[in-house]
Amino acid sequence: MRKLHSMAEVDPTKCIGDRICERVCPTGAIRVVEKKAVVDGKKCASCFKCMDYCEEEAISVVPRAEPVILRVDPSGVDPDELQALCGKAHLRPEDVICPCTLTRADEVAAAILMGARSPEDLSVMTGVRTACGMWCMSLILELLRAHGIDTTPPKGASWYDVDAALWNLSDAVVRKYPEFRLEEARRRLEEGLEVPAPGPEN
Ligand code: SF4
Ligand code: SF4
Repeated sequence: MRKLHSMAEVDPTKCIGDRICERVCPTGAIRVVEKKAVVDGKKCASCFKCMDYCEEEAISVVPRAEPVILRVDPSGVDPDELQALCGKAHLRPEDVICPCTLTRADEVAAAILMGARSPEDLSVMTGVRTACGMWCMSLILELLRAHGIDTTPPKGASWYDVDAALWNLSDAVVRKYPEFRLEEARRRLEEGLEVPAPGPEN
């Protein structure tokens, strides 16, 4: 879930149409049309990555007339289907998969069951990937794949396919880094127990 009070706006007199903003936008909200960037306010998730990367300083923050909330209510889908999708992705519905927005697996799974087909769709619907965009990505792709969706990034996508999850690590990697207690974490995961964050102190 993410609450938005503002959005990006482009000053066309400064924009040179180099498309840098397009490449960093997590939702596909900003597009260059006839050599000028244009923001779709319905898709803008107010992350302001576009503003950070625009070397021409053509992008600014403007307030929204009304706040917008990006959220999907998991109670709107079949609970069995929701549970099954999370389980197939090795997740529990209550697992927080986006620490920046505190979005849980059940919200993302519900968005997929309601029709989201890409990371961009999920960002527009739930707000995931609109802050750091790092920790959530692997699990978002896992949920999409679990629903049978091809996660090959389309040309020009602002993300790449990753498959770095606890259950996918090779035994050689697990053995190589005993200080991260990955073997124990995998066993706990298989037993349905809480998995502590990897690291020597835990
Ligand atoms: S990064 Fe800035 S200058 Fe480049 S297309 Fe986007 S708004 Fe225009
Ligand atoms: S979602 Fe972020 S990167 Fe995309 S247009 Fe809005 S503020 Fe810019």
